[in-house]
Amino acid sequence: LSKNADIAMYRIKRSSHNNFCFFTPEMQSHSARRLQLSNALYFGLTRGEFLLHYQPQISLQDGHMVGVEALIRWQHPEFGAVAPSEFIPIAEDSGQILAIGEWVLRTAVTQMKAWLDAGMKPMVMSVNLSTVQFRHPDLLALVMQTLQMAGLPAQYLELELTEAMAMDNPTAAIALMNQLHEQGVRLSIDDFGTGYSSLSYLKKFKVSKLKIDQSFVRDIGDDKDDRAIVTAVINLASSLGMQTIAEGVETPGQLAFLRLQGCDEAQGYYFSKPLPVDQLEAFAKTMTAV
Ligand code: C2E
Ligand code: CA
Ligand code: CA
Ligand code: CA
Repeated sequence: LSKNADIAMYRIKRSSHNNFCFFTPEMQSHSARRLQLSNALYFGLTRGEFLLHYQPQISLQDGHMVGVEALIRWQHPEFGAVAPSEFIPIAEDSGQILAIGEWVLRTAVTQMKAWLDAGMKPMVMSVNLSTVQFRHPDLLALVMQTLQMAGLPAQYLELELTEAMAMDNPTAAIALMNQLHEQGVRLSIDDFGTGYSSLSYLKKFKVSKLKIDQSFVRDIGDDKDDRAIVTAVINLASSLGMQTIAEGVETPGQLAFLRLQGCDEAQGYYFSKPLPVDQLEAFAKTMTAV
């Protein structure tokens, strides 16, 4: 929240002409870093500074890996590793997220095709979408073109949206979701429960999965409200014909509760952190060996 407040302040700052109010040295350096990162992002793609890590998603029915989520990593020669939570909002503000998002989609889809060709057990590749991408009129064409160029059937791709993205303009979102769904692309709602979505819309969204936010999963052990929310989301999803995946699962206790409530899948450090390609391949081998 404080980061968002900073960004909001920065926006105010940029759009105002007088320099005197609310501009502390801290904010000065904060906006200086934003500017530096924004410039650095520009070269990041051409210099190959980005890569994807893949986090396993595990079926709670049989313990198999049924998917991975692609998560971007940025290793800058000078700034070191920059967290996506820091640079994605900057890239969204500058519009650079479109080029970065295209790279993410192409890389993830190409990787999944390579894994299938190499004989890896079929699974779903989940890719995070930015609001900016979701609002862009060419998204559908881009997704279909990328799949076609990689030779990957659409059912292996899942796009992660947020409630805010869907609720910003529900009519347009529903139309786009319908088109993606018709093409066979899966959709999920990320960070479910933290946003603001109306149940009457939710049933119109062509979404196959709700991702239960890690903030609810974290306190399953000692917060009965969070337990109630998680149970309610699982039941809601089930009655809407959707699946559920719990994010940020770290302990056997959390896992036991989720399994008991009928959650379909889980993802988190308990199973594995997000892994580079070679380590994900090694992980997949240990899974099939068991
Ligand atoms: P997200 O989509 O909600 O991703 C889940 C985040 O939780 C990831 O952080 C992941 O590394 C972390 N995580 C996974 N398991 C655990 C766990 O057991 N415990 C804890 N504490 N954390 C766990 P990451 O990779 O730093 O990504 C942060 C956010 O940045 C993502 O949140 C997503 O909103 C955004 N992001 C990452 N990659 C992309 C991308 O390629 N495109 C877009 N548009 N956004 C991305
Ligand atoms: Ca996600
Ligand atoms: Ca999430
Ligand atoms: Ca998130």
